[in-house]
Amino acid sequence: MHTILALTRAIVNSNSMVGNRGVIPMIADLNFLDEWIPEQMEPGTMFLLDGAGELGKAENPYWAVLACPACGALGLITRQQCAGLEAMICGSEVCSAEYFLADGYICYRPPN
Ligand SMILES: [Zn+2]
Repeated sequence: MHTILALTRAIVNSNSMVGNRGVIPMIADLNFLDEWIPEQMEPGTMFLLDGAGELGKAENPYWAVLACPACGALGLITRQQCAGLEAMICGSEVCSAEYFLADGYICYRPPN
């Protein structure tokens, strides 16, 4: 866990979108669903779209559905977000958690 934390801090410090705020993110396990079963989309669960790459922009298409690690709201994420290159902000009205993927984990800043 210490190694992951150090890695996460390094990533956060190099990411201007979520870094530079002195906030150490929380970390959640990333779980995968093979089949689309909405009831099993618990916080931190990802489901790769059947038609990954077919929706959205050609250079950065929608790739998966991810349940917010803080509130469980479902959101579409893009290929770049899937690869950990872009952060996401939860789309729920009651939650504004920011999160990004890193090495099989979800790093997130809980909503205030
Ligand atoms: Zn949320």
